[in-house]
Amino acid sequence: MIPPSFDYATPQSLSEAIALLHQHGSEAKVLAGGHSLIPAMRLRFAEPSHLIDISGIAGLSYIRESGGFLRIGAMTREVELEDSELIQSNYRILLDTAKMIADPQVRNLATLGGNLAHGDPANDHPATMLALRAQVEITGQGGKRTVPIDDFFPDFFTTVLEHGEILTEIQIPIPPSNSGGTYLKIERKVGDYAVAAVAAQVSLGADGTFQQVGLGLTNVGPVPIRAVRSEDSLRGQRPDEALYAQAGQLASEDADPGDDLRGSADYKRSLIRELIKRALRRAVDHAQGRS
Ligand code: FAD
Repeated sequence: MIPPSFDYATPQSLSEAIALLHQHGSEAKVLAGGHSLIPAMRLRFAEPSHLIDISGIAGLSYIRESGGFLRIGAMTREVELEDSELIQSNYRILLDTAKMIADPQVRNLATLGGNLAHGDPANDHPATMLALRAQVEITGQGGKRTVPIDDFFPDFFTTVLEHGEILTEIQIPIPPSNSGGTYLKIERKVGDYAVAAVAAQVSLGADGTFQQVGLGLTNVGPVPIRAVRSEDSLRGQRPDEALYAQAGQLASEDADPGDDLRGSADYKRSLIRELIKRALRRAVDHAQGRS
């Protein structure tokens, strides 16, 4: 289908974009990579009368470490995450996530900021950001505010972004040494959204026990889920198969999937049970320098 007609603006600065959003009120929407918004407009799920394209604003696309954080500009494209040497060498979980998103055509344009701002529990980055304990920087007329990712997705397809605000930066605490992570996803065919997926990020102490554990679940509930009970069951313990199985069981109980074309709720819970085990094995291998 063809979307309804709309006006299109290409602001050159953040302040100009924010002013345009306020000027046009709830009829206006930010356009980033367009790979969620344009399909929604074609299906008439979204009918904004004004699109504010933020792709021409300089300084919103970068990947760098500073002040204890990995900082990623909201307009950073998936392909830039994949190609980044810093991500490839130090942030395996992010590399695994970006590679699992759609296909190269989509990844050439889709942005990390858009993936989070869309609030879709089927998107892949939200669970990864939960596992990494990320926070997001949001810019509005009143300046900047920072929101922990745990508070960013209050409801189905909903974020805490207020009208007139733009997500500008994703901030990830730099993991300590002996850390590792991965993202494992089951999809019906290459490029599809997840039937279910698991993000795992772990850090091991000098004695080999789990110090930090982050586990995020994709597409098994109305919002991305952090598997808190599984994380708690691992912290302070030495990695072992029985613990992984227990963590998988707890996460499958905490998941809240529905029956749909991708599978039954029972099937999705069983995927989570298994994926948690596999993801923990792989994350621990990375943390121990074995891969
Ligand atoms: P847009 O589509 O431009 O925007 C999405 C929403 O976020 C809009 O409401 C927009 O107003 C808002 N927004 C965007 N950026 C900002 C910002 N900086 N501040 C405030 N609001 C903002 N995603 C996955 O995770 N996994 C998949 O497997 C997957 N498969 C796909 C397959 C296909 C065929 C397609 C077309 C898309 C797929 N996607 C998938 C979605 C894709 O990753 C999207 O591009 C992404 O979810 C949104 O990013 P975007 O930059 O395109 O945002």
